[in-house]
Amino acid sequence: MHGALSPTFATGHGVDGRIDQLVRKGAAVDGMITLGGGLPAGELFPRRALSSSFLRVISDPRADALQYGWAEGREGLRTWVTERLRKRGAEVNAEDVLITSGAQQALALAAQVLFKRGARIGCDAETYPGALDLFEARGLTPVAAEKDVDGFYVMPAVSNPHGGSMSEEARGKLLARARATGAAIVEDDAYAEIRFHSAPPRSLLADDREHVFHVGTISKTLCPGMRVGWLVVPPRYRQQVLDAKQTEDLQSNSLAQVLLEDFLAHNDYGVLVERASRFYGRRARHLARALKRRMPELRFVMPEGGFTLWAETDLAGDDRELLETAHAHGVCFDPGRSFRFDKQAAPIAMRISFATEPATKITEGVERLARAVAAYRKR
Ligand code: PMP
Repeated sequence: MHGALSPTFATGHGVDGRIDQLVRKGAAVDGMITLGGGLPAGELFPRRALSSSFLRVISDPRADALQYGWAEGREGLRTWVTERLRKRGAEVNAEDVLITSGAQQALALAAQVLFKRGARIGCDAETYPGALDLFEARGLTPVAAEKDVDGFYVMPAVSNPHGGSMSEEARGKLLARARATGAAIVEDDAYAEIRFHSAPPRSLLADDREHVFHVGTISKTLCPGMRVGWLVVPPRYRQQVLDAKQTEDLQSNSLAQVLLEDFLAHNDYGVLVERASRFYGRRARHLARALKRRMPELRFVMPEGGFTLWAETDLAGDDRELLETAHAHGVCFDPGRSFRFDKQAAPIAMRISFATEPATKITEGVERLARAVAAYRKR
């Protein structure tokens, strides 16, 4: 389904070459049921509306779709980001918003201006592997958030891999610590809008404009292929971040930005997000039911949003071996190790995605997973 080698599969697995290889091998197998990778559902991509927008902007010389633009990105898009954030309680100006090549580049720019080699970043025990890779590549050390830290990396609205949100109390404590110590907070809001039962919570930006670097993207709500994301920075960091962006790649893709601006002018983004959230919510419930029925020994908490569910097994050992066994049974998942900076952490856990495959495949995938776990137990 995803072609032989989708680089998205590799995202976040670079910390472990063996997992990277395994995941790529798995992605190339015909008939593999994909409960790993965490790719959005391709059937939700707004192909027709994007085609209309594309034809409009590519043929209009005034649209500037093919021209260089400013490093900070298109003003219309930056204003749109401020409007979305206002609904989340945050008053920010378009000048504080930088359009990036996906949330991943926003994270990279934030890490670059905020942290020196050796800095300690407080993270959840299980967190986004793409951030862990980035920290490692820059000589930053992820540590438990309770420790002394130079900064925090958090997903308060919808976390990856758990799909949970931060309690009011935890948010308050985090902000108080940032104010007391001067540590910056990187708020990764990538999944914030994909929520099943309630509107997204306030952004941390609503409570603090001094310490919070806010990261967003259209990758989860519209499509990741356009590579459009954003970084909202405290005013005193504006110039530094802009310089870093310009040095890195001059600007984000003009065509994608112009296309998105036109798309947003002709389509109701809010309606699309609600539709996507309902769609993923149905799949999440389907997966949860299948797991309860077929693998009652797994422990998991029903996600509030996002694409994935975190399930802990009662097994000890090497989750890469379990993944190899799963491949042999025609199913893949993301091994817990990828999300943990403490590679010794137990027990074996799996991030299981409900986003990519339809309900019938999810049922069959869980069946294969159950057989794979049984085979692993007997080894
Ligand atoms: N943050 C999180 C938590 C993610 O899961 C991802 C994508 N896997 C990203 C950031 C990067 O997203 P983008 O496609 O916008 O670069």
